[in-house]
Amino acid sequence: GSTIGILGGGQLGRMLAIAAAQLGYRCHIYAPEASGPAADVAPLWTQGAYDDVEALARFAEAVDVVTYEFENVDADPLETIAARVPIAPSLTALSIAQDRIAEKSFIEALGGRPAPWRPVRSARDLKGAIDALGAPAILKTARFGYDGKGQARIWTIDEAEAAWDEIGRQDAVLEGFVRFDQEFSVILARGGDGAAVVWDCADNRHKDGILDRSTVPAGGAIAAQQDEARVLALAVAEALEHVGVLTLEFFAGADGPVFNEMAPRVHNSGHWTIEGATTSQFENHIRAVCGLPLGSTARLAARVEMVNLIGEDAAGWPDILKDPAAHLHLYGKHEARPGRKMGHVTRLG
Ligand code: ATP
Ligand code: MG
Ligand code: MG
Repeated sequence: GSTIGILGGGQLGRMLAIAAAQLGYRCHIYAPEASGPAADVAPLWTQGAYDDVEALARFAEAVDVVTYEFENVDADPLETIAARVPIAPSLTALSIAQDRIAEKSFIEALGGRPAPWRPVRSARDLKGAIDALGAPAILKTARFGYDGKGQARIWTIDEAEAAWDEIGRQDAVLEGFVRFDQEFSVILARGGDGAAVVWDCADNRHKDGILDRSTVPAGGAIAAQQDEARVLALAVAEALEHVGVLTLEFFAGADGPVFNEMAPRVHNSGHWTIEGATTSQFENHIRAVCGLPLGSTARLAARVEMVNLIGEDAAGWPDILKDPAAHLHLYGKHEARPGRKMGHVTRLG
C-alpha cells in the first residue's frame, strides 16, 4: 500500500509524515482538531473524534496501514480500525501503555523494576498507599497524563485529600519518590520479522515536568545502567511482538535502572536521531509499519544534543540559524502558550 493513516496530527505526526514522504508514501491524518502541525506535510486529513467508530471505519477504509503518534487515546474504539486494516504498534501495546496500572504490572512480570507503587482508586486507597510507601510520593492519574499533567506531589499524609482532588478523583497510581542522578530513555524499532535495532540512550533533562534537552552519548550512571535497561526494552518488544518504535523511560542512580514509563511510539527524546543518526526514529517507524527493512541507528557525531523550544523559547528562532552547528525544527504552531512544544534544535559535534 502507499497511504499511511496516522492517528494524531501534532508534531510527532508531522515528523512521521516528513519521513514517510521521503520514502514515497502519503500520509492521511485522523485527529479531533480541524488542523495541526502535521497538516503542512500530510496531504490528507480527516477531522473526527477518537471514539467515533463510523468515522474511524471510513478512515480505515481509505488507508493501507494505520499507526499513531500518541498513546493517550482509548484503545477500544480503535478495534474498528484493526478489523479493517493492519494497525501498528498493536492495540495491546496501546492499551498497556495508556494505563499506568497495567503498564507497571506488565513491566514487573518481565522482571523490570518500577519505583515502588500502589494502585489508587479512592481517597481511602490513597491513605493506605501513603502508609505503605511513605512520603514523599507522586500521585499520577492511571490514564491520559503527559508532560507532567495529572500528577500531584505528596510530602505528608495530610496532603492526601488535596492531591486526590487535584488529579480529579480518578483511578491513579501512587509512586514512591525516586532519588535519581539522571534520566534516560531506550528507543528501539522492531520490524514484523522480529529484527530490532536500538539507538544510543539519551540523557534526558526535564524542566517543570517537560523534557528540556536530550544528549548522546550519555555518561555517568546511565552508561553503567543502559545495558540492563535495553535488555528490558527488548523483552517488552518481544512480549508485545511489537512493530514500530518503542520507548522506555528510566531513572539512573543508586537503585537504577528504575523503569518510569513506556510509549509505543516515537518519542521527544529521540528527535536527535533526525540529523544525529544514520536512520531517524521517524524513518524506522515508517519502515517497520510498512514492512520494510530497518535502517542503521549508528550515531553520526561524537556528541549530539537536542533542545526543546518551549513556549516563548521559539521567539528568537532566526538567531539559532546563525549557529552553523544548529538544525532548527519548528512545528508550525501559531500560538506560543507556556509549556507548549513549539520546536526543537539539534546540534552535532
Ligand atoms: P511524558 O510527557 O514523558 O509522557 P508524563 O506526564 O507521563 O510525561 P512522567 O514521565 O511520569 O510524566 O513524569 C514526568 C517527570 O517527573 C519525569 O520525567 C521525572 O522527572 C519526574 N518523575 C516522575 N515520576 C517520578 C518519581 N517516581 N520519582 C521522582 N521523579 C519522578
Ligand atoms: Mg508519559
Ligand atoms: Mg515521561
